[in-house]
Amino acid sequence: MNCPWCEFTGPPRPLHAHLGTVHPDVVRIVVEDHRQSYSIECPHCGESYSQFIKPRGRDPGFLDEHDAQIRLVALDMLVNHLIAEHIAEHIAEHIAEHIAEHGEKTP
Ligand SMILES: [Zn+2]
Ligand SMILES: [Zn+2]
Repeated sequence: MNCPWCEFTGPPRPLHAHLGTVHPDVVRIVVEDHRQSYSIECPHCGESYSQFIKPRGRDPGFLDEHDAQIRLVALDMLVNHLIAEHIAEHIAEHIAEHIAEHGEKTP
């Protein structure tokens, strides 16, 4: 899988770890009327996912404490989205490129 933001390639789990360490800022955390939500937008198709964050109790430190984890959850949704929506497309492109380069018969 390709990182949508840089040259990194790897299987889903390392990609997820990569996103969490290199691109945690692609997850937006919005606070509105005391309700917090995170959102992430797919850079390929613009589809966005958002979800309310439900802190246990009214701990004001919740967001700071769990910031990294919240971002990882959001990035997990993005990785799943990339697999579901964009991997098939990529594979088709690669096959087409391969055929263009090597002809139909190469495995
Ligand atoms: Zn990257
Ligand atoms: Zn997408």
